Amino acid sequence: MIPYGRQDISDDDIAAVTDVLKSDFLTQGPAVPRFEASLRDATGAAHAVAVNSATSALHIACMALDLGPGDRLWTVPNTFVASANVGLYCGAEVDFVDIDPETYVMCPDALAAKLEQAEASGRLPKIVIPVHFAGQSADMAAIGALAHRYRFRVIEDASHAIGASYRDRPVGDCAHSDICVFSFHPVKIVTTAEGGCATTNDPVLAQRMELHRSHGVTREPSLMEGVSEGGWYYEQVALGYNYRMTELQAALGVSQMTRLQEFVARRHEVAQRYDRLLGNLAVTRPRQSPDSHSALHLYPIQVEDRARVFADLRAAGIGVNVHYIPVHTQPFWRKRGFRWGDFPVAEGYYRRAISLPLYPGLTEADQDRVVAALSEALDGR
Ligand SMILES: *Cc1c(COP(=O)(O)O)cnc(C)c1O
Repeated sequence: MIPYGRQDISDDDIAAVTDVLKSDFLTQGPAVPRFEASLRDATGAAHAVAVNSATSALHIACMALDLGPGDRLWTVPNTFVASANVGLYCGAEVDFVDIDPETYVMCPDALAAKLEQAEASGRLPKIVIPVHFAGQSADMAAIGALAHRYRFRVIEDASHAIGASYRDRPVGDCAHSDICVFSFHPVKIVTTAEGGCATTNDPVLAQRMELHRSHGVTREPSLMEGVSEGGWYYEQVALGYNYRMTELQAALGVSQMTRLQEFVARRHEVAQRYDRLLGNLAVTRPRQSPDSHSALHLYPIQVEDRARVFADLRAAGIGVNVHYIPVHTQPFWRKRGFRWGDFPVAEGYYRRAISLPLYPGLTEADQDRVVAALSEALDGR
């Protein structure tokens, strides 16, 4: 089976991890700060806070922005469930904004319309989370302008988009947002097995996120309410979690980050080859916005008769997948009042969507197999 995504692990990556195993620190050592430095370098953000998953990063981002009961968080339905769940972790109410029919990321017009209604009814969101679906940035200038006007905070869910850029600046530099979150799950662009990080330019937000990733406990005198009683002294000043990344993960991340540009370039090669090979097939490909250079986490196409095409491809050994079942249609969210029909663009996209295999190690022969199987599946209609 050709998978839809796969990590690319080099001998250097393996050596970096085994070096940690032979070192003094398996956790809370020098590798996590090194990984954070490489993320600051890659994004241009002033601060990077590495954690054990993007879900944790989204959670501490919401906590740092003081999201709580009585507040509202909005995200898109075309995302992984975590982007919405974090609102509930904080006791906030969650709602969704529909996507653009061509780029599949948050539609700024839909956001503007929903904000206008929300203002009239006194139900404006505190946080909006656009998702850089498939590696392509949402229209952050438009979303940032609305954030300014309606006074909400913005967390970018860039789980798919490390190495991407928007208007010639790296995604993660937070030019139009408060915080930007990345995932390092093995199917994503860069991996630490499990892992995530949050970047920000605001030192107070960075400090709060660091506090929340480690139990709300600090050894930093300026954050303490009392005075240190000696070298052993620490204070718990907030309710935090254990969301720390291990040294093994961070060392893998540092090593992977040296190949970030190579990974993204290779993904572009593979995608451009798909663009050529699929030119004559009855498939719809996403529109790439001229503002955005995608990290190309996914190669999503839309086809008629999706269920059968999907089944035929799987039967042919092609590990296609579907991104995403709209979050609001999940049983959990329907119990909270959402229904099919609430966000028609995301639903229409979902009904026809298939993600083709895309990862740096996908060979031309693999790709030819994918295209041949797809062509046959489409002909079988
Ligand atoms: C993968 C992903 C997440 C969650 O990432 P983890 O690191 O697995 O917690 C969140 N949002 C999106 C859009 C994702 O693709």
